[in-house]
Amino acid sequence: MWYHTVFFLPEDYPPVRAEIVSVGTELLLGQITDTNAVFLSQDLAARGIDVLHRSTVGDNMERLEAALRLALSRADIVITIGGLGPTQDDLTKEACSAATGIPLVPDPESEQAIRDFFARRGVPFNEANLKQALRPERGTNLKNPNGTAPGCVFDCGDRSIICLPGPPAELRPMWLNEAVPWLAARGFTPSEVLRSRVLRFVGIGESLLEPKVRDLMASSNPTLAPYAKTGEVHLRITAKAPDEESAVAMIAEMEHAVRERAGEWLYGVDDETLETVVVRQALERGVTLATAESCTGGLISSRITDVPGSSGAFLLGAVCYSNEAKTEILGVPPEMIAAHGAVSEEVAIAMAEGARRRSGADIAVSDTGIAGPSGGTPEKPVGLVWIGIASAKGARAERNLFAGDRTTVKLRASQAALALLLKTIREESGHGGGC
Ligand code: ATP
Ligand code: MG
Repeated sequence: MWYHTVFFLPEDYPPVRAEIVSVGTELLLGQITDTNAVFLSQDLAARGIDVLHRSTVGDNMERLEAALRLALSRADIVITIGGLGPTQDDLTKEACSAATGIPLVPDPESEQAIRDFFARRGVPFNEANLKQALRPERGTNLKNPNGTAPGCVFDCGDRSIICLPGPPAELRPMWLNEAVPWLAARGFTPSEVLRSRVLRFVGIGESLLEPKVRDLMASSNPTLAPYAKTGEVHLRITAKAPDEESAVAMIAEMEHAVRERAGEWLYGVDDETLETVVVRQALERGVTLATAESCTGGLISSRITDVPGSSGAFLLGAVCYSNEAKTEILGVPPEMIAAHGAVSEEVAIAMAEGARRRSGADIAVSDTGIAGPSGGTPEKPVGLVWIGIASAKGARAERNLFAGDRTTVKLRASQAALALLLKTIREESGHGGGC
């Protein structure tokens, strides 16, 4: 049987297609992570420019030229990353010249900028750097106030290659301040913008959250997509619109619908972490906090103290690993540990109460569990973690059974503890869910 593949583009298909070519053998060897490509992909998406391909090539003239020819055959804007330095293995401009047929010519302005850059640092000028001062005959160089290598544009009329330097602190400003304005001036302005907002949920798994918003996920613009993370779930809303204002309005409408259905589990948006929200809400409501940790080994207090300003709310973090420490520091009765075991509801509650008493904090959270890989029994398997909470209203503990290796169990336990802390902060100060 024969299949015919028919490619068609909808009429409103954005005309600008981009391709990113990352250059460097160290990228291929996995010695560095391509954070530049991630940055460019995100930025291009936000500008409504579709990135259709991304490739990585080593410092090899032949393969780089081939990758560039392929990229030029299918993209309007090709963006290269790296290989603009003065050394032998910095080949990007030469390869672009070969792929486009546009020769490189000396550029006195760039040479002066490089000489000035050296002079400012009191370093003698190196002749090897003259190579960096070349520019495409058709095109332009892009200024690099943060390094020696200027970027450049090879202008092939309806297509172009933009070459950016590898160091992120040079690439980002050059992209934003030099390359984007050049593209805009050449009419590579996208007809649409793409905007996203991430809603972050805790205390509800993906399998329970998804059915609540399934009908909303059928929407094609804005889209709603779930992402399961360790100990939390994200819903990403993405809108495509002619302008920023309309995209933001479309996102707000979708967010409203999601909040109506699952607002009680929503703790934050975009880059907000659970610990950030815990500290912010504790500070806003004048609530003080303490932790008594066993199996998380200080992870909860470490996450809380990652947040600037946490000293205004966080009073004490006690890591009590041994039974003796639980007794001596937190006042857990030895008979209780003997009767129920250290990993038990009773001990979790006593630990939280002890931390609250010792610190004078309004709310204390505790954990005791079995992070594995060994130490589990049929009654108390690996991954069993009791999380205790104590406040003026009393104390209780929740039983959790977490999947994963030791590090994952610790992370999930810290996540559940922070979620319980947040819930309690809200309840104690008389507010409902949502952020
Ligand atoms: P230089 O003048 O420093 O040689 P360059 O433009 O030639 O700059 P590269 O030699 O390819 O760039 O890379 C220089 C450094 O920049 C790398 O060692 C690495 O630290 C960083 N870098 C390069 N490419 C990337 C990338 N794609 N993502 C993140 N960092 C990168
Ligand atoms: Mg280099």
